[in-house]
Parts: sequence; structure tokens; C-alpha cells
Amino acid sequence: MRTRRRQDLAVNPLFTRPGEATSVDRFAIPAGEMLPETAYQIIHDEVMLDGNARLNLATFVGTYMDTQAAQLYAETLDKNMIDKDEYPRTAEIEDRCWKMLARLWHAEDPTGTIGTSTIGSSEACMLGGLALKRRWQHARRAAGKPTDSPNLVMSSGVQVVWEKFCNYWEVEPRYVPITEEHQVLDGHDLAGYVDENTIGVVAVLGVTYTGMYEPVAAVSAALDEIQKASGHDVPIHVDGASGAMVAPFLQPELVWDFRVDRVASISTSGHKYGLVFPGIGWVVWRDRDALPDDLVFSVSYLGGDMPTLALNFSRPGAQVLLQYYTFLRLGMDGYRRVQQACQDVARHLADGIASMQAFDLWNDGSDIPVFAWRQRAGHTENWDLYHLQDRLRTKGWLVPAYPMPDDLSDVTVQRIVVRNGLSHDLAEELLDDIRDEVAFLDGLDGPMPRQRRRSAFHH
Ligand SMILES: *Cc1c(COP(=O)(O)O)cnc(C)c1O
Repeated sequence: MRTRRRQDLAVNPLFTRPGEATSVDRFAIPAGEMLPETAYQIIHDEVMLDGNARLNLATFVGTYMDTQAAQLYAETLDKNMIDKDEYPRTAEIEDRCWKMLARLWHAEDPTGTIGTSTIGSSEACMLGGLALKRRWQHARRAAGKPTDSPNLVMSSGVQVVWEKFCNYWEVEPRYVPITEEHQVLDGHDLAGYVDENTIGVVAVLGVTYTGMYEPVAAVSAALDEIQKASGHDVPIHVDGASGAMVAPFLQPELVWDFRVDRVASISTSGHKYGLVFPGIGWVVWRDRDALPDDLVFSVSYLGGDMPTLALNFSRPGAQVLLQYYTFLRLGMDGYRRVQQACQDVARHLADGIASMQAFDLWNDGSDIPVFAWRQRAGHTENWDLYHLQDRLRTKGWLVPAYPMPDDLSDVTVQRIVVRNGLSHDLAEELLDDIRDEVAFLDGLDGPMPRQRRRSAFHH
């Protein structure tokens, strides 16, 4: 929190009109009105310092849509998704979208699935996790067994939403540590974590730290063995925040989705590789048995009832329409080409970085178009990846460095997320800038001052 700031925000005299205040209190709602032009300018100017979204290689979230999408957005930003009665077409389109996803993810019977849009993957994961917990509770109660200590098994590299889920809904998190040999949750040693109180296992398709896929089929096979030995039948939720919108196009032969019987539900962020502006996620359950009825509420819909399940009540409907727009506009071929272009850029960048003396790749962007690298052992004591992150920031690039999760938290990596909009041309500029900054750092006579480790903003 910055405390040096003056209480008052001075308004540029160019913007104010006669009689308007020339300063406003920074932390109190002004007593009177101001002209819309003035208010607009104040905010427009302040967010100018936010940085250029296109050069933000830290985020997975969409920063670009075409003009028609922007027009549709402007036309529909007044729609509230919960008003299904008032906006029946928007409600219908929401339905179509998750049914399209159910099909994309190979649901055996797409008409028997159930799903919903959400505000993002976080809400979608919470709903997926809640369904796992409720199913487990029902089964335990039916068997006359206690329900007081549920646990959820996942890798230590899960996104922060799973820590939140466990904290908010009182489920014990059981983290399988990642190691040099087991860089993702791969089924290894799973029997040591799973027991009769396990509500499910989370497999991440596109781990946030590195972009790597967790092998869902291998995790499922390990759970088959566990079931044979112990009788525990443990379902999987796939957190496909990024990967569920990449794998169907770039790795169609990879079996990770509803083709794996144990996969009960899948979530994704429409606003990541679904290519929509921030504010949209999706979750789909394999069938109605996977989503206990008592989690579903009804809202009135054209005089009838419509099932809903969500943590929010009101939320924007426009993003749902934008998702439908991208599905129509791109089709399977378009998505394939967009994701392939991102992957080509990611692979090219990874090759460039691999060719530099200073670095070793952690992975190469061949899962989702995301990859990470570390400093080569013995390269130098003078600087680390945090210094490189800061040097790149002076050129406008946001390329985060951060520690890996347990048990590898002594390893620092740096990561690039290639999104639609990072062209080959920009990628070349970035490689040049990385080479220049590494040459600068390597040319230092002594060590750079030690950096304060920031919290990992890839979360
Ligand atoms: C981004 C991400 C989330 C959270 O998604 P939001 O859409 O930002 O809420 C969850 N899990 C994984 C693996 C992610 O990459």
C-alpha cells in the first residue's frame, strides 16, 4: 500500500470546465457532481500507467478480441446472466455453449450432461469441487459412515483456487509434491494419499507454473489400481483452465477428457484460450449423477423453472454471447489455427532461449503454448532470473520469475505465456531484448543487489 500519496488528486486544468472542482479527494466519494468528460479523463489518464496488455506475458487471460466482438460486447453489456426470464435467448445461448463444450470434450451422451457458465475457472472449480464433496457425503451417509474429514488430492503445483476451495469449504488438501522426476501429478505414489475420505483427485491440464499437462489417463489408471486394492472409487475433476481449450485442437489424440471414465467434471476459462475478454468460465459434468440434485436451484424462466447452480447471482451475460461469437466465428478450424500459431511462437521462443548459454528449459511449450526455464547451474552468481525480470520490465515486457512449488521451491523459473496477439515479429523483438539484457547482466563486474522475492504473480 502506498502511503506517500497526497489526499487530493489534482485534476488537470485542461479537463475541467468553469465551476468544476480542480481537485478531488482520493479516498472519499466527492460531494458534488462533475462532467462525464472530466471523470472520464481522470480515469483514462490514471490507467495509462497500467502497462501494455499485449506485452504482458505473465497472464493467461485474453487481451484481444476483434471489432465485431467489441461491438457485440458494447451492445450487450447491460445483460444480467441470471435474468433468464427476461433474456431467454441469452439463456439459450449459454446452454448451447456448454453443450458444445461437452461434445468437444467427448461426453458419451452430450444431451445427458449438465453444465453452466461461471465468472471464470475459479468459480467453475469451486462448483466442481463442491459436487465432489456432496457426492462423497451422500455415499458416506448412505453407508452409515462419518462425513467429518473429507480430503482432496492434487499436486503441489495446483493453481491457488484449489487452496481456496479447501480452505473455504473445509476440505483437507493433500498435496503430492512435484520433484525433478515427477514434474506433475502423474499417478506415482498416489496410494499414499488416497483413502476412504478422498472426495476426488484434481488433475490440471496446463499447470500454471509451467504449462505442462498432467496425464489424466495415467492418474486414472493409478486410481483403478487403488480401487482394486482398497475398494475406494475416486472421481477426477479436470482443471482445464487453459488446456481444455487447447488440447482438443492441438493434441486431439491425447485422452484426458470424458473419454476417461473416472473424469466426473471438467472446467475451463473461456477468457484464457477460449479467447474471450475477462469474465467467463465453464464447467460441465459427465452426467446428472455426477452433480447431486441438492446443489441445483431453480429460477423462473418463461413461466417455467430453469436449473441454476452458481456462487454468484448477478453476473454479466455479454461474455457468454462473446463465447458463442468465438465458437461461431472461428469454428474448429479457426481455433486450431489460432492455437497452433501461439504454439509455433512458443516453440520458437523456447528454442531461442534454449540456445542461450545462461538457461536450461524446464519445458518447451509443446503442451499449452506456455513454457518456463531456469538459469543454468553454475552460469553465474552475479544475477538471477528476478534481475532479468526487472531488466525486461524496463523495456515493457512482463516476464515473471518465481519459485516452483513444493518440493522444488528452491528452484526459480521464468515463464512466458504465449497468447493470441504475440506475433512472430514481437517474439523476435523479445528474444533480442532477452539476449541484450543477459549480455548486460553477464558483463557486470560483481553481483547485483539481492532481490526481494515477490509473491508469485502467476497465481
Ligand atoms: C487461471 C487458472 C485458474 C483460475 O482461473 P480464473 O479463470 O482466473 O478464475 C484455475 N486453474 C488453473 C490451472 C488456471 O490456470
